[in-house]
Amino acid sequence: MPVSAASPFYNQEHEDFRAQVRRFVEREIVPHIERWEAAEELPRELHRKAADAGLLQIGFPERAGGVEVPDLFYMIVLTEELARAGSGGLIASLMSHGIATPPICHTGSAEQIARFAAPVLAGEKIGALAITEPSGGSDVAALKTRAVRDGEHYLVNGSKTFITSGMRADYITCAVRTGGEGMGGISLLVIEAGTPGFSRSPLQKMGWWASDTASLYFQDCRVPVANRIGAENMGFMAIMMNFNQERIMLATQAWAFAKVCYEDSLIYARERQTFGKPLIRNQVIRHKLADMKMRLDAVKAHLDILAWRVSHKQMPVAEVCLLKNHACTALEWIANEAMQILGGAGYLRGSRVERIYRETKVLTIGGGSLEIMKDLAGKQMGY
Ligand SMILES: Cc1cc2nc3c(=O)[nH]c(=O)nc-3n(C[C@H](O)[C@H](O)[C@H](O)COP(=O)(O)OP(=O)(O)OC[C@H]3O[C@@H](n4cnc5c(N)ncnc54)[C@H](O)[C@@H]3O)c2cc1C
Repeated sequence: MPVSAASPFYNQEHEDFRAQVRRFVEREIVPHIERWEAAEELPRELHRKAADAGLLQIGFPERAGGVEVPDLFYMIVLTEELARAGSGGLIASLMSHGIATPPICHTGSAEQIARFAAPVLAGEKIGALAITEPSGGSDVAALKTRAVRDGEHYLVNGSKTFITSGMRADYITCAVRTGGEGMGGISLLVIEAGTPGFSRSPLQKMGWWASDTASLYFQDCRVPVANRIGAENMGFMAIMMNFNQERIMLATQAWAFAKVCYEDSLIYARERQTFGKPLIRNQVIRHKLADMKMRLDAVKAHLDILAWRVSHKQMPVAEVCLLKNHACTALEWIANEAMQILGGAGYLRGSRVERIYRETKVLTIGGGSLEIMKDLAGKQMGY
C-alpha cells in the first residue's frame, strides 16, 4: 500500500528502509565526512560497517550474499539518504561495487560469485570497474588494453584511467581486448590486487574528493583464465547492460544532490536578513526557489516512472539516457542557483552546496557523457 497520496511508488517498507539508512548516515558518515574528503579516500572499515547495516547488499542476488528487493525504489531511497551527507565522492566510492559487481553476479560462475562478489557485498573486499582508458572513455568498443592467451593465463598489457575506488580495490572488473577490433573482441577479467605486473597511481580531482580515483597499469600482468567473467569476446553486452543501471543511479544521485541544494538554500533564504527583511521576502529569490522546485519535481517524476518500468523488466535504453541528461543538467542549474542564494557563504569550503557545486560536472561526463547519451538515445529511437 502506498504510504502517501503524493507517490504511488513508495510504501511502508521503503520508508522503514529509509529510517535504517538515515540512522547509519547520521551515525557513521556525517561526523566524519569532512575528514574523509580531506584525506581523499574512505576508510575500508566503512565498507564493513555499511555491509553490517545491510546497505551494500541491496538489489544483489541472494546467491552472492545480496538482499533481493522487488524494485529500484530501494536504491533510490538509499541514494537519497546517502546524499544527505552532501558528498558525491562518498556514494561513488562506497557504492563502487554497484558497477563492479553486477557483471560477476549476472554472468559469473558460482565459484566466481563466491570469490569475487560475496566478499565485496560483505564489506570485506572492495570492487572497482575499469573500462575507461587514457585514449578515451566514450568509445568503449575501441578500448586497447590487450589480453593474450598464454596457457591457463592471459597476459594483460595496457592501462585504465579515472577508475573509482581504483587505489583501494581488491578486485577490478576490467574490460580487455581478447579478440579483433570493435565490440566483438572485448572480454571482462577480474584482476586482483597484488597480481604481478599490476600497478596504480592516484589522481587528484575537482570534486568527488572522498572517492579515490586511479590510473591502473598492466605490464605482462598474468591473470588466470578462471578470472574471465562470461565467454571470451562477449564482454561488451555485459558492459552495456551494466551502463543502464549505472545511468539510473547517476540520475538518482543528481536528483538527490539537487534536493539537498534546494533544501539548504530554502533554509538560508528564510534565515538570512538583507535590507531589513528575510531574503525569501524578495520575489526574485522566491522565483528562484520555485523554479528549483519545479525542475526537482520534474526530474523525480521522470526518475520514478523509469525506475518503475525497469523494475517491471522493461529496458527503456533511450529514455534512461535522456533521464540521465535531464537529471544531471537540472542538478547543474539547481546547484548554481543554490550557490547564488547562499552568496559568499556558499563559496566557502564546508557547506554542502559548495561541495555539490564542485561535483556537478562529473555527472554529465561519467557513465556516458551528455553528448554520448543524446547520440545513443537518438540512435535507439531510429533518428
Ligand atoms: C571522477 C570520475 C570517475 C570515473 N570513474 C570511472 C570508473 O570507475 N570506471 C570507468 O571505467 N570509468 C570511469 N570514469 C570515466 C568516465 O566514464 C569517462 O570520463 C567518460 O566515459 C568520458 O570519457 P573521456 O573522459 O575519455 O572523454 P572522451 O571520450 O575523450 O570525450 C571527450 C568529450 O568529447 C565528447 N565526445 C566524444 N565523442 C563524441 C562524439 N562522437 N560526438 C560528440 N561529442 C563527443 C564527450 O562527450 C566529452 O564531452 C570516471 C570519470 C571521472 C571523471
